[in-house]
Amino acid sequence: MPEIFRNTRTRFAPSPSGRLHLGHAYSALVAWQAAGCDANRFLLRIDDIDSSRCKDEFTDHLIDDLQWLGISWNQPPLYQSARRQRYDAALAWLESEKLVYPCHLSRKEYEASLTAPQDSQNSPPVPNTALHHTAVPALRLDMDRALAQIKLKNQSLIWQTHTGDAITADPRSLGNVVLGRRNSPASYHLSVVIDDADSQIDLVVRGDDLRASTDLHCLLQTLLGLPSPLYHHHELICDQTGQRLAKRDKARSLATYRENGLTINDVKSLLPPIKLL
Ligand code: GLU
Repeated sequence: MPEIFRNTRTRFAPSPSGRLHLGHAYSALVAWQAAGCDANRFLLRIDDIDSSRCKDEFTDHLIDDLQWLGISWNQPPLYQSARRQRYDAALAWLESEKLVYPCHLSRKEYEASLTAPQDSQNSPPVPNTALHHTAVPALRLDMDRALAQIKLKNQSLIWQTHTGDAITADPRSLGNVVLGRRNSPASYHLSVVIDDADSQIDLVVRGDDLRASTDLHCLLQTLLGLPSPLYHHHELICDQTGQRLAKRDKARSLATYRENGLTINDVKSLLPPIKLL
């Protein structure tokens, strides 16, 4: 075990919206290795804020699959669905600081407003949020204002990889992302930074597809005064056509492998070797 991982506390945070597949198994096993295969340093978090997609039965299945992989945890799992108040408070604070604003446009309308011709070529697109007063507004990050505040306070947006490389975050291209909605749960981006900080996670292990999101998470951590963990973005597991595995891809679900009598070692042999450094 490399020295830098000696006391690392990490987590695996699946959404219970389907059965776990090989990609999840890889992510969980990399995190488990980084925690030194120590149940005291590995947290299971259930990312179940989106109640329209998540089901308790999938939570039961994923716990069973992880245990089958030989992964264990000593603390009870953390359920995001139980933490709404915590996210709401952060959202309310961001709104009071005018770092988020209510936007009544649907996603489609919002995107169209960004590409619509502007009066002045230099001014950023301003969505007409006065439209559609009846809709529940999305609470969007005011990216320009957030970055201006960072600059004003002379803060830097830097996150670190697990090997100690410092990465300058550049979240601007992600735009005014939705951080929540009134009377409904916070977005993944907001909940994840709050949960990782509250759970004292010092290494986040997740797929390479979330690398760009880490720039945004770094910005949110800085705005909210939260610590930034180290990040290890591992390679993604793809099918023969080079497509990322999805939960609907039943053929590679752990359940299917288990039903077909494969052992843990058979499953591990289908995965790339785990290299932490
Ligand atoms: N629930 C998220 C996912 O399954 C977690 C991502 C993360 O580890 O931050 O993609």
